Amino acid sequence: MSIRPAQHWIDGAAVGDATLPSLDPASGAVLGAFADGGAVESAAAIDAARRAFERSDWAAAPRLRQRVLLDWAAALQAQAGSLAELLTRENGKVLAQARGEIAASISEIEYYAGLARHLPGHVLEPEPGVLSTVLREPAGVAGIIVPWNAPAVLLVRALGPALAAGCTVVVKPAAQTTLFNAALLAPLLAHPQLPAGVVNVFGEAGHAGASLLATSHDVDAICFTGSTAVGKTIMRDAADSMKKLSLELGGNSACLVFEDADIDAVAPQLAAAATIISGQQCTAARRVLVHASRLDAMKRALAGALGALRVGPGLDPASQMGPLIDVAARDQVAARIARAFDAADEVLLRGTTPGGALAGGAFLTPSLVFHRDSAADFVQEEIFGPFLVLEAFEDEAEAVARANHTVFGLSASVWTHDGARAQRVARALRNGTVWINAHNRLLPEVETGGYRQSGLGRLHGYDALADFTELKHVYQAPGMVGR
Ligand code: NAP
Repeated sequence: MSIRPAQHWIDGAAVGDATLPSLDPASGAVLGAFADGGAVESAAAIDAARRAFERSDWAAAPRLRQRVLLDWAAALQAQAGSLAELLTRENGKVLAQARGEIAASISEIEYYAGLARHLPGHVLEPEPGVLSTVLREPAGVAGIIVPWNAPAVLLVRALGPALAAGCTVVVKPAAQTTLFNAALLAPLLAHPQLPAGVVNVFGEAGHAGASLLATSHDVDAICFTGSTAVGKTIMRDAADSMKKLSLELGGNSACLVFEDADIDAVAPQLAAAATIISGQQCTAARRVLVHASRLDAMKRALAGALGALRVGPGLDPASQMGPLIDVAARDQVAARIARAFDAADEVLLRGTTPGGALAGGAFLTPSLVFHRDSAADFVQEEIFGPFLVLEAFEDEAEAVARANHTVFGLSASVWTHDGARAQRVARALRNGTVWINAHNRLLPEVETGGYRQSGLGRLHGYDALADFTELKHVYQAPGMVGR
């Protein structure tokens, strides 16, 4: 497979020399090169998006927007296999996960293509003869910053509603997955009916350009997916321009397993939920809270399921977990987990950095600890890798209190055959998503987002349009116009 270099795309043209290497995290091999931009490219992209918003007919052409989105989805479908392979090579995730991500992204583009033609407002008659028309209008220029862990779906769930709404955009992909994002966007950028400047993309190894998206008064909305720490910086940077903020931030998902659950059946599902994208998913299982009567069974089953996972290159069909995104991230996560081993009540599975054929890649096998104190820093922090903490509870109230003992509020899961309990606990958990007898099920048509420090706003689903639109009230007085 030949991998095209990734240049910036500004005002309908490719610019910049691709000079920085992008590496395969499974081997360290150079995959290709991308152009390294910054504030200059970001400013040019913002100018182009502003002009396109004000001068092209994009914002007022819902059928054109649908056509462009549908054609993009069809073009991606035609190359779904090679895109999934590139995603695995640049990000490291196993091929089955990459294929699933590409399929979900195509489905999501199609979903927002439909919504491009369904952006209804409403009309009221608050007093006789008075017409109050409420219109949903595009917000303007949207800045979109996406991380590397799911670079297809995290881009599409922001770009889809932004374009459907009639916004023009500036996209800043993560440096680690710039080549993949360039391949994903290529058919959209090449669309003959896409006006120049509607979609602009710049790459950068740092974040000076991304920062400008937050501070610029010419950017009307920013959609950031990344860590809570950077989300707070963006919120501060955006304050002066008071732009619309969509922040999809960190998580620390708890999985509550009640006494009636089949531990041997649940444990492998929790192991998979914790190690999806090598534990580098915002909604990955991080804490397993089990009823005290089943603690010993869960210790054995979970350590067994995690220990049995085959770790290897994502392109190898036998692999169930690939490498982390790069060696620097792997070393940082491994050091954090090593400190947790020292502090935890019990180490149930000690992950290692494999040697031999895997020595050149960013691999780290899964780890599991048992700990009683939910205030411990390694329980409270989001450790972005294959690391799981097991805790025990005596009753439902303690389970909910423990699960809610976190500053995050992205997602959680409840495992029980008792339907009434499942619903009761789901309502008591302070999370944007709660799964019952499942984990990590994310759908194009269903809103996702965080309570508390997991973020602001929702992506996926109809409500994602709220982040990229404004509501306008047009009041018309009673009586004939002009009399
Ligand atoms: P990150 O460290 O926050 O970085 C995200 C992006 O922001 C990077 O491109 C980064 O560039 C850039 N950035 C850093 N400082 C910035 C600033 N001051 N202004 C603007 N941009 C700035 O996150 P990550 O490690 O890439 O991704 C992992 C995090 O994303 C985890 O916390 C995970 O939970 C979260 N996430 C959340 C969701 C969700 O839906 N809630 C989904 C996926 C991931 P640099 O590389 O130069 O720092």
